[in-house]
Formats: sequence, structure tokens, C-alpha cells
Amino acid sequence: MKIAVCSYDANHNTKSIDQKLKDKLINAGMILDNYHPDIVISIGGDGTLLSAFHKYKERINDIKFLGIHTGHLGFYTDWRSENINELVDYLVNNDVSDISYPLVSANVTYAEGQKKDNFLALNEISIKKENKTLICDVYINGELFERFRGDGLCISTPTGSTGYNKSLGGAVISPTLDVFQLAEIASINNQVYRTLGASIILDKLTQVKISMLSPDSISFNSDQQLIFEKPISQVSFSLSDKRIHFLDYSKDSFISRVKNSFIGKIQ
Ligand code: NAP
Repeated sequence: MKIAVCSYDANHNTKSIDQKLKDKLINAGMILDNYHPDIVISIGGDGTLLSAFHKYKERINDIKFLGIHTGHLGFYTDWRSENINELVDYLVNNDVSDISYPLVSANVTYAEGQKKDNFLALNEISIKKENKTLICDVYINGELFERFRGDGLCISTPTGSTGYNKSLGGAVISPTLDVFQLAEIASINNQVYRTLGASIILDKLTQVKISMLSPDSISFNSDQQLIFEKPISQVSFSLSDKRIHFLDYSKDSFISRVKNSFIGKIQ
């Protein structure tokens, strides 16, 4: 089994966990391979796993991910750093099953006419305008749904629903559902401008197209990474036919993670 270990945090604790894990994996007969891994282990938080996803997204169908958290339990990180021995045994045992979650895919058309397809996001893609209010037409399955005016739009996956989407007032979605969510970022709603004013959850057969009225200064962010700054005239979104696969280990249900992260103990 070929394994890549990803930790981007320069902190001493993370470095020492990284080294300990690599030593134990090698002693257990595993091969460390950053180029063609079967399994990618991230050490850090959900942000670290997002970076690992982007590093390996071209081979997403061939890889299984696993996250070790060095701080709080995350949505993508369910192993504790104290449990490295148990983790290595789990991998050596080879009896590992996996669970997969949906990804969002975007196809971009530039103002000059070229197209670029299949931008993948694990949490979300957001579209904003850097200098002014974003004005765009939102089509759902080819039908003009609304003319949006505001800061931007956020299209999130079920696992990303607890990230940026939640701060925008979007719903938290069970990650086993094959859906995606379109949430507004500070829409203008008054007697002249009108949008739905709520997030909308769409199924895997649905396509959302966002057509810009003015293509300059559009910022396109995938999991908060700015992808490009060329003028964009249109972006289409749907659920990708690719999915992210995790080694299925978690002892905590999705609902208990949501509760632990956002609510905590009830007095
Ligand atoms: P980051 O520092 O990597 O992440 C910002 C925070 O969001 C961290 O606390 C991170 O958890 C948490 N997070 C990431 N994915 C999450 C998920 N699926 N559910 C719940 N919490 C999640 O910042 P970044 O690189 O700028 O952005 C990465 C992601 O963070 C984005 O994709 C976005 O979803 C989220 N984010 C949210 C807001 C917001 O709510 N206003 C702002 C910025 C970013 P860890 O501490 O475990 O890494």
C-alpha cells in the first residue's frame, strides 16, 4: 500500500506527529509515495485536508483520504494524533472500507470565448466581484430563475455545508445526500431588486448556470483558493460524477460532529 502524508503546518507538534507516523508506516512495511499514493493521510485540521484534496484531485477516483486532527475534531479529520499505533494497525489489517461524498464541479466560459471544464471543489465554489456589486442571471436547468445583485453566490457540497455555506445562512446537509446548495452572499432585496433571499438545495440532475452581466473583475474561489482573475462571462455548476473517498472509520456520527462543533454541551 502506497501512502502520502500531508502536513502543511510548520508547528513543532505537527512535524513530530508527521515524522512518528512516517516511521511507523515504514516499519509496518508501507511505502511512502507522494506521487501515486493509494491513501493520503492529512495531519492538521479540515483546512489541511482541503489542501491535500486539491493536491491530489486529478487522481481523486484512485485515492482514499484519512484525516488526523491535531486540534479539535473536524468534519474531515476523525483520527486523534494519540492513536497513531491504532491507525497503522488499521491500515496493515487491510480490511478497510471506504465511504464517499459528493463534489461540486464547475465549467467556466471566459469573456474571450475559451472554456475550461471540471473545476472540482470539496467544500464550495464562490463567485464574487472584486470591485463592485455582482450582477448576474441565475438559470436553473436552463430556465431563468432570478437576476441576482449582491456580494456573490456560493455553491457548496453536503460536506462543505458546515463551512462557508453555514455562515451565509445555508442549511447543514447530511453528507450522504447527493445534492448541492446555492446560497446567496449579501443579496440586495428591495423594491427594485429581488432574489429568492434563501439558499436552495438541488439534486444531482440539476444544473445551475450563472451568467455575468459584466465579466470583468469576477473572482472564482474553489475552497477559498482564488483560481483565476480573467474576465468570466459564465459558470455552470452541477454535482460532479467524481466523489471523494475516505477510509470509513469515524466513531462519531455526522450529527454528533455538528453538535460538538457548533453547539457543545447542553447545560
Ligand atoms: P481555513 O483556515 O482553512 O478554514 C477556516 C475555518 O473553516 C477553519 O476553522 C476550518 O477548520 C473550517 N472548515 C473548513 N472546512 C470546513 C467544513 N467543511 N465544515 C466546517 N468547518 C470547516 O480557511 P480557508 O483556507 O480560507 O478556507 C477553507 C474553508 O473554510 C472554506 O472552504 C470555507 O468553507 C471555510 N471558511 C469559512 C468562512 C466563513 O464561515 N465565513 C470563512 C473562510 C473559510 P479547521 O480549523 O479544522 O481547519
